[in-house]
Amino acid sequence: MTTCEYANIIIDISHEKVDRPFQYRIPEALKDKIHVGSCVEIPFGKGNTLRKGYVMELTDEAQWEVDKIKFINGISEETVSAREISLELAAWMKDHYGSTMSAALKTVLPAAKKQKQQVHKFVSLNIPVREATEEYYECVRKKQKARERILKELLDNPEDKVPYELITSKLNVTAATLKSLHDKGIIKITQEEYYRKPEAFESSRYGAKVLSEEQQNIVDTIRKDYDEGIRDTYLIHGITGSGKTEVYIALIDDVIKRGKQAIVLIPEIALTYQTLMRFYRHFGDRVSVVNSSMSPGEKFDQMERARTGDIDIIIGPRSALFTPFPNTGIIIIDEEHESTYKSETMPKYHSRETAIELAKLLPDGAAVVLGSATPSLESYYRASTGEYHLFELNRRLTGGTLPSVDIADLRQELREGNRSIFSRRLKELMDDRLSKGEQTMLFINRRGYAGFVSCRACGHVFKCPHCDVSLSEHRGGRLVCHYCGYEEPATKICPECGSKYVSGFRAGTQQIEDEVKKIWPAARVLRMDADTTRAKGSYDKILSAFANKEADVLVGTQMIVKGHDFPDVTLVGILAADMSLYASDYRASERTFQLLTQAAGRAGRGEKPGNVVIQTYQPEHYSVVTAARQDFKAFYEEEIAYRDLLRYPPISHMMSVQIASRDEEEGMAFANRLRALMERCRIPNAVFIGPALAAIGKINDVYRMAIYVKLDDYNGLIQLKNQVERYVKDLEAQGHLRTINVQFDFDPVNGY
Ligand code: ADP
Ligand code: ZN
Ligand code: ZN
Repeated sequence: MTTCEYANIIIDISHEKVDRPFQYRIPEALKDKIHVGSCVEIPFGKGNTLRKGYVMELTDEAQWEVDKIKFINGISEETVSAREISLELAAWMKDHYGSTMSAALKTVLPAAKKQKQQVHKFVSLNIPVREATEEYYECVRKKQKARERILKELLDNPEDKVPYELITSKLNVTAATLKSLHDKGIIKITQEEYYRKPEAFESSRYGAKVLSEEQQNIVDTIRKDYDEGIRDTYLIHGITGSGKTEVYIALIDDVIKRGKQAIVLIPEIALTYQTLMRFYRHFGDRVSVVNSSMSPGEKFDQMERARTGDIDIIIGPRSALFTPFPNTGIIIIDEEHESTYKSETMPKYHSRETAIELAKLLPDGAAVVLGSATPSLESYYRASTGEYHLFELNRRLTGGTLPSVDIADLRQELREGNRSIFSRRLKELMDDRLSKGEQTMLFINRRGYAGFVSCRACGHVFKCPHCDVSLSEHRGGRLVCHYCGYEEPATKICPECGSKYVSGFRAGTQQIEDEVKKIWPAARVLRMDADTTRAKGSYDKILSAFANKEADVLVGTQMIVKGHDFPDVTLVGILAADMSLYASDYRASERTFQLLTQAAGRAGRGEKPGNVVIQTYQPEHYSVVTAARQDFKAFYEEEIAYRDLLRYPPISHMMSVQIASRDEEEGMAFANRLRALMERCRIPNAVFIGPALAAIGKINDVYRMAIYVKLDDYNGLIQLKNQVERYVKDLEAQGHLRTINVQFDFDPVNGY
């Protein structure tokens, strides 16, 4: 309902070329239907073709002569209107991270058109538990793994209805298997309409634990704040198994009792069957999940369920943050340190900051709860300055002792003649596990660290004298810094120890798999990396096969270290712990610490004690030493001192201006112009670095380079960004810059 005459409208958000609002007149008949966020149809361009647009603003001020302003045609029926909050959030993201309004809107608005009503299917047992148990043993005997899996699940909680999709996706049971069990009368498949009237919510329906004192303290503090109208950001630092998820569940209970809704962000990779079932068991069908393998229609459907009040809780990766609940009361971000919370496309937003902003925009505000075993430097720093409220959970509640960790010094192995990719200690422990029939995970972290060089005899790493990040090897035998462009000639002889073992660690997952098969021909090996998980569902398939003990050894990249519970894994080998230390960006040590801590945490989750072997060329590096001790605080102190010394985030802020160009020279020249342009703004204390070729200097024949700016004041960086944006826009309007693209990344998490 409006009395305003005009509406400023962003046209058809799929077209970035028209990225500014256009003004239209509101016909009398539409005045009681239009609001900010309405999706409308408008005549556009010379031909007056009908396009869709979103109302950004209502006003009485005409931008043009009144009779030149066209009328809105009507309200668009097939697309849902955006809420005002979404528009405000999009505008904030555009400003804060640098992007077009269209790209920001596309990020916060559900993409698909309305779907027809859908049904929701559930699976449950159709026969008495005793018969089902017999059936289960029959499957075990016949090695019918999929049937065994589902029966076990249903027998664990015979009263439960389990969502059909959860079984087909996360338990990796095919529809055909389900159908045959159904046809034999063993299971029941029931259907329920979406969009039913919600039943009154029964709290603590199932399986809630009596909280420990530490857990209860967290819940009480947050509840008290909430009821007193205080909306804060809380960080729960607690090792895996210390009961964070249980705390989330209790917090959500509280919020729902107050008539609000909850958003739970979990990295996609950690959305496991076990975790999801805990939420389903407790909240029943008031909870729903989104994930990236859903079709836009399916996702949209979940958004509709949220909007209409059919569910109270959504669980999902980054994009779940934009769930249009009527009244979100809490936003939980589990594993808050994960780099996937930062978007890699425009707008390059961070879910944590965006969640905090969203919480502020909501009419009643919302509490933001972050949880991690290895908090990001950002969050821990903010907790230490009092900006966030810090809680610690120090005990593992499930028993299971912390694994014992060995560090294997690969320099020494080399000195003593062992050139295999396995240290003697790891080999010995693998012999032992294979003979006992216990499982081993072998982990290598390779992604994105191409081109690093180090000395295999002494562990020396070639670093930039100005930026203290690793140099990478480039064409023509140069070592290059990706921040400032510093170069030195590559050498074959180590400047530290004079040895000739200067190279990278070249082994990949495939080689490790081959090596295991060579040394232990009888071992059953599974491999999980980008190659073996390309097909849809293959990821869950490999994990469930390993959980079913269909293999003795799982070899993989970082994919295998996140979130999964394999009680029979009693040995974890980290083959080249240093790999991630060579990443040529300021977060290399942080990422290494996180990966090592998580990988080590995979061993000994069950009753049997576990071992971890960390193989490294730099056994004295603080990331390695503190991860082996699982000592987050010691790591934090070292790392924050380094960030402070070099003014890296979170101590300061950093913006990277990323330039992509078909022509290398032209791109560099342009980058230099941008640097000069920014320098002319005379922002006090801004430090400019580069331009330099990016870590991945060329993709698909497009050259990539970046300029970095460090500055304590985030707003100063925004000013510089705005200046560059304006300059680029002007050039584009004049028809220049066809072959150059400019993007921004604030406080970058992923190297460019
Ligand atoms: P995290 O999320 O920190 O990894 P979880 O919440 O998953 O920890 O808890 C780890 C295990 O301990 C789970 O099996 C959970 O059911 C159990 N648990 C959590 N809190 C309690 C409690 N207060 N009493 C008993 N068991 C608990
Ligand atoms: Zn050396
Ligand atoms: Zn440098």
